Amino acid sequence: MDRSEPTTAGILVIHKPLPRRPAPYQDELLSSWIARLADANYCSLPELCRYLGLGQERPPETQSDLAGVNLDRFCTLLRLPSAELGRMLLRRRAEFPIECISWSDFQHCPACTHKVPGVSLRHWRYAWSLQCEVCGSELSPLGRDPAAHVNLPTRLRTRAKEGAKQLMLANRRGDRHAGRRMDLTLQVAGVLAPEPRHGALFSQNRIDRFKTLAAINLGMTRPLLAAALTMKSDRVGETKLRIAFPHKRKVVDRLSRLAESLPRQRPREGGGPKNQSPTNYAGTTQAPRQEYLQAARKAIDQLGENAEWSDLLNCAAKLLESACQSHMDIS
Ligand SMILES: [Zn+2]
Repeated sequence: MDRSEPTTAGILVIHKPLPRRPAPYQDELLSSWIARLADANYCSLPELCRYLGLGQERPPETQSDLAGVNLDRFCTLLRLPSAELGRMLLRRRAEFPIECISWSDFQHCPACTHKVPGVSLRHWRYAWSLQCEVCGSELSPLGRDPAAHVNLPTRLRTRAKEGAKQLMLANRRGDRHAGRRMDLTLQVAGVLAPEPRHGALFSQNRIDRFKTLAAINLGMTRPLLAAALTMKSDRVGETKLRIAFPHKRKVVDRLSRLAESLPRQRPREGGGPKNQSPTNYAGTTQAPRQEYLQAARKAIDQLGENAEWSDLLNCAAKLLESACQSHMDIS
């Protein structure tokens, strides 16, 4: 099928659809498909972009990249139903406080790229995508992952997946309130620890990325406790927070009190907390408060006497959380 249209000079120009047309892969980005079409038709990408009537020499990724383009002609040349076009474009939410879509490829599915070299799928660009939606494989960073051979702890994986799901739902619903909360969480987390920060959502380091997604989950479920748990092991964090958020003095005051009230983590000695004398608790001779003892006993009941001290501490902290929150009247 050829398509013809008159130019302003009255000359009839015939636009032929591309002779070779590998079908788009499931959820493939329009930019990825156009690059593969250029390869298949032995022309350069800028040449093909000009032929398609694009105002730029790089393939479009969003609807705004197609502004001013004759879409009818564009779709005809590509033999692409116009209803399919929108499904191959990225949709950014400018009003959402966190950037959730990478501006370039940062991860891929080794199985799918082995099957179709050079392919890039739309969902691979999303900060929340951890698995390939086509084949179910785990997505890998495109660059060299410094943590490639490190087994991620199950707890971190679980929390990161939850955080990823929360980020996806908030973004898709356009929930700006949840977005602002996640944004603040990442700002606080970025002050307290070097790894979790906004840019790490697209990090080539899996551990940094998973920690950032996990921080989002903590921020959405137990925001103050998450920060307090970090602060109690690093009291310099309080000073950093006060400098970074001078207008959030009351929140940092609350965090400081909550961190103070939480049991301190100490090195595991002599087989676990069951052997620790109450006189050593929190490194002081002061007797622990009753609710801490109860939480510690419950944590040991749940995880077993040989569980790691940090796991027991986290479990006990969770049990204490509701009491702390109601005590401090945290909304
Ligand atoms: Zn795949």
